[in-house]
Amino acid sequence: METMSLEYSLYPKKYDVVVIGGGTAGAMAAMAAGREGASVLLVEREYALGGTSTLAQTTPRMTNHMTQDVMNSSLSGELQTLLVGKNFGFNKTWFNPQLLKCALEEMCEKYGVDLLYGADFLTVVAKNGTLTHAVFQTVAGAIAVAGKSFIDATGNAAVAVAAGCPVEQGDGQGRNQPMTLRFALSHVDIEAARDFMIRSGIWNANEKSYLEMASLWCYNRHPLTDLFRKAVEDGVLTPRDGNYFQSFAVPCYGSGVMYFNCPEAGHIRNALDPAAVTEMVVYSRKAALRLLNFMRKYVPGFENCELHSFAEMPGVRESRRIVGEYYLTEPDYDKRSKFPDGIAQTAYPIDIHDDSLQTLHLMGPGEFFEVPFRSMIPKNVNNLLAAGRCVSASFRVQGALRIQLVCMAMGEAAGIAAGLDPHTAVCDGAAIRRKMMEYGGTFA
Ligand SMILES: Cc1cc2nc3c(=O)[nH]c(=O)nc-3n(C[C@H](O)[C@H](O)[C@H](O)COP(=O)(O)OP(=O)(O)OC[C@H]3O[C@@H](n4cnc5c(N)ncnc54)[C@H](O)[C@@H]3O)c2cc1C
Repeated sequence: METMSLEYSLYPKKYDVVVIGGGTAGAMAAMAAGREGASVLLVEREYALGGTSTLAQTTPRMTNHMTQDVMNSSLSGELQTLLVGKNFGFNKTWFNPQLLKCALEEMCEKYGVDLLYGADFLTVVAKNGTLTHAVFQTVAGAIAVAGKSFIDATGNAAVAVAAGCPVEQGDGQGRNQPMTLRFALSHVDIEAARDFMIRSGIWNANEKSYLEMASLWCYNRHPLTDLFRKAVEDGVLTPRDGNYFQSFAVPCYGSGVMYFNCPEAGHIRNALDPAAVTEMVVYSRKAALRLLNFMRKYVPGFENCELHSFAEMPGVRESRRIVGEYYLTEPDYDKRSKFPDGIAQTAYPIDIHDDSLQTLHLMGPGEFFEVPFRSMIPKNVNNLLAAGRCVSASFRVQGALRIQLVCMAMGEAAGIAAGLDPHTAVCDGAAIRRKMMEYGGTFA
């Protein structure tokens, strides 16, 4: 690799905690550190908070599938109360991604978090295993922000890589999970779509939740899948367009908007290759237009639908993961492992999107596993934590812990730890779990 020197200026203010990445985990981390009284800068390369949950249009927030009613992160609970109170969301699950951006900014203000948008993380400055600055590219050139501790919430473990910590990528054969550029349609007659689903026997007439539609080729004899089959025969869709189809109604839009968790570009599997991600985005926009045409022509309720938006950010399910002080593996998942420093609990199934989509194996009643605090501690550095989908876990277990509720709990735990003491590498994770409970977080 070629090297070049980098000139940067110093950011005018120094911070106790610098959180890099203002997404699902990062926003929670910054608020949690602020709640501890630390001075916090939350740095994000885009111009909104929420990351995948806002900019990649990823709604709804999946339940953790636990039969126990727990909310590990009190800040997540507070966010949900705020969303519902403002009519920005409906319950624990359903929220409006655009309005979530506003709610997160409001909460950051409440917890005294300074925000810096439009700053793309470049590298770190370190001395004897301790990070002293994070360097960002901004419209004003490169700037270095001084901090006592740092949280990598980039999803891609970008800070951990720059700090020289060991990381892993994909499934061991260079394949990441498939990516999705989500899109949304407006002017959907959602009640007509619901009626079609009820008539087809796919939807329970008493189901009060927001509408979800799904189809996979393996759903043989499924009325929606039959429509996909017909559209492929008619040349309106390609076979790949039917590999994975999922759509959700979104609360708080008057005009009937549905967000689509597709098209899935299952043939492009390197989320860390910018050329591949570009190819995925271009492919996905073309496929989304095919799906728009299909919905108008074949699916009741969508006759007058219009393109509402493409996601501002590609949806990356998995890219790079740290190899930290604890590495979660399938035996942990199979044994439903619990830890004294378990800071997030979930029964979500291992959800690996694949061209040959597997059946999800659900845990039994009362079963769950835990994410230990140590899985957020990267090796070789004293004052860095990683939170969110890039924590230390195998490819398969990451497929079970990457949901938003878990990422948010990890973010809160990381923020509390960094806010209390910059020496996060030796943090007592069990004490952090207790602190989460003192704030009102609930654990089974
Ligand atoms: C298509 C798709 C569908 C999904 N569906 C669901 C679902 O229905 N329900 C559910 O609960 N979960 C779902 N998930 C999983 C979940 O949404 C994500 O795993 C989770 O939101 C990731 O959170 P994170 O904080 O790790 O990353 P993100 O939320 O992606 O946050 C990372 C942030 O870091 C920023 N960043 C990255 N690099 C830099 C840099 N160099 N400098 C500065 N900032 C940077 C990004 O812009 C982003 O804001 C889905 C994921 C995908 C991709």
